[in-house]
Amino acid sequence: MLSSKDLSFWTACASALQPAAQAYIDGRLQDAVDGRQFASICPHTGHTIAMVARCAQADVDLAVSAARRSFEGGDWSRCHPRERKPVLQKLAQLLRDNADELALLDCLDMGKPISDALNIDVPATAALFDWYAEACDKLYDEVAPSGPDALALVTREPVGVVAAVIPWNFPLDMAAWKVAPALAAGNSVLLKPAEQSPLSAIRLAQLASEAGLPDGVLNVLPGYGEEAGQALGLHPDIDCLSFTGSTEIGKRFLAYSAASNMKMVWLECGGKSPNLVFGDCADLDAAARKAAFGICFNQGQVCSASSRLLVENSIHDRFVEKVLTEMAHYQPGNPLDPATRLGSLVDAGHTGRVHGFIEDGVRQGARLLAGGERLRLGDSDCYLQPTLFTGVTPQMRIAREEIFGPVLSVLRFDSEAEAIAMANDSIYGLAAAVWTDQLQRAHRVARALRAGTVSVNTVDALDPGVPFGGCKQSGFGRDLSLHALDKFSQLKTTWISL
Ligand code: NAP
Ligand code: MG
Repeated sequence: MLSSKDLSFWTACASALQPAAQAYIDGRLQDAVDGRQFASICPHTGHTIAMVARCAQADVDLAVSAARRSFEGGDWSRCHPRERKPVLQKLAQLLRDNADELALLDCLDMGKPISDALNIDVPATAALFDWYAEACDKLYDEVAPSGPDALALVTREPVGVVAAVIPWNFPLDMAAWKVAPALAAGNSVLLKPAEQSPLSAIRLAQLASEAGLPDGVLNVLPGYGEEAGQALGLHPDIDCLSFTGSTEIGKRFLAYSAASNMKMVWLECGGKSPNLVFGDCADLDAAARKAAFGICFNQGQVCSASSRLLVENSIHDRFVEKVLTEMAHYQPGNPLDPATRLGSLVDAGHTGRVHGFIEDGVRQGARLLAGGERLRLGDSDCYLQPTLFTGVTPQMRIAREEIFGPVLSVLRFDSEAEAIAMANDSIYGLAAAVWTDQLQRAHRVARALRAGTVSVNTVDALDPGVPFGGCKQSGFGRDLSLHALDKFSQLKTTWISL
C-alpha cells in the first residue's frame, strides 16, 4: 500500500492541501488581533504554503487569559488523572489517522524527506502522547518519614500556565516533547512554533480539541521570536517556560524571566556532539553507517547530530573511506519523493549560513574530502551536498561551533585520554557516542564524557522512556521520560499535626 504513495501522489496531496494557518486560542482558530500575517514558505519550491497569523503581544495576552481561565476552571487541571488518559490516547490515534497530512505539513514547511516525516516523526509523536497517557494514572505521591505526631505529604501539582517555544527541525516531535508531558501533568499550555514551521502545531491543537481536550488548555501562537516569543518570555502570568532552540536565544529566556516574574525556565539548546571511534571497535562498518546517519539525518539539522568525528589514528584513513562511502548514500533530492534520504535545508538563509561554515573550513586549512557544494534542484537552492572535512583541528570554527547542516568534521587522536579531552573541549554537552569493543573502556569513557546522553556502539539513541537533555551550554532540564514531568509540576508539602 505504501508503495502507491509515490512522488506524484505526494505532489498531488501538496497541491490540494489547504492548511489551517490561524492562531488557536481557547478552542478555536482565530486571526491575529491586529490582522497581520506572515508567509509560510516551502524551501523546496519557494512557494507560499499559507499566510499564517502573526501573533504578538495582544494575542499572547488573549491566549494567556484563556489558559489561565481553563487552568483555574479545573476541567483539566483538577480532573482525575484517569480522565486525562483517554483524551491523550485519542489524540495519539488521531495523529496516526491523519499521518499523511501531518507528514506533508512538516515536509513542505521545512524540507525534511516525506519518508522520514511519515515513518519517524509522526509515529514517534503519536507514541509519545500514548506514553504520557499511560503515565497519567500510574504516578504516586509521597509520604515523608516523620515522627509520631505528624504526617508529611509530598504531592505533585501542575505548575499552571506553561509556555513552550520550539525550533523548526522536528516541528511535530518538538511540540509533543513539550505538550505531552505538560498536559499529562495537568497544565494549560501555550505553544509557539518556529516561524519556518508553524503548520503542524496548529493542526495538532485542532486534533487535541477533537480528542476532547477542554478549550483553552492547548493554545498555539504562530509568529516571530522577537514578537510572540518575547511576549511569552516576559509575560507576568506564565508560570513555566520550556524552550528548545539555540543557546543564544535560550540565554535570552533566562533574561526575560529575570526581567519579569521569575517564571521557571527550562532550556534544551545547541550541541556539537563528539562521536569517538577507537581502533578496537570490531564493527567499523556499523560505525561508519551510523557516523553518516548521525550527520545526514534531517539534513544534519539535529541538535544532537554527531558533528565531530574523533577517530583513532591507527584506523583513521580506513575508517574515513568507509564513512565517505556511507555518506554518498545521502544525495540531496526532492523531499516529496519517498526515495529521498536528504531533503532541503529549512530555508535559503540557513543554507547560506551552513555553506559559509564550509567556506570557512576550507579557508582555515581543513581538507574537503566530499561535498561542499550548494545545489539548485528545480526552483530551490536550499540543498547542500553531504560534506566531510579531515585534518580538522580543535581550534577551527568547524570543530567548535554548531553548524546545523550535513557537515562532518573529522579529528584524530592517539590515546583515550586525548580523545576524552578533545571531546569535552566544547561549550556544549548534549550528546556523545563511543565505539569500542572493550567493556571497561566503554564505561570509562562514557563516565568521563560531559554529555546528557552517551551512546555506546550506536549514535543518538533515543526512547520516550529515557531522559534527553544537556549539560553546560546545551541547557538543563530533561525532556522525555517521567523526569520531564518534574519540569511541569511542583511539589507541595502538607504537614498535618496529629
Ligand atoms: P532559535 O533561533 O533559537 O529559535 C527557537 C525558537 O525561539 C523559535 O520559535 C524562535 O522563533 C524563537 N525565538 C527566536 N528569537 C527569539 C527571541 N528574541 N525571543 C523569543 N523567542 C525567540 O533556534 P532554531 O534556529 O529554530 O533551531 C535551531 C537550534 O535549536 C539549534 O541550535 C539546535 O541545536 C537547537 N535544538 C535543540 C534541541 C535540544 O533538544 N537540545 C532540539 C532541537 C533543536 P522564530 O522561529 O520566529 O525565530
Ligand atoms: Mg517554512
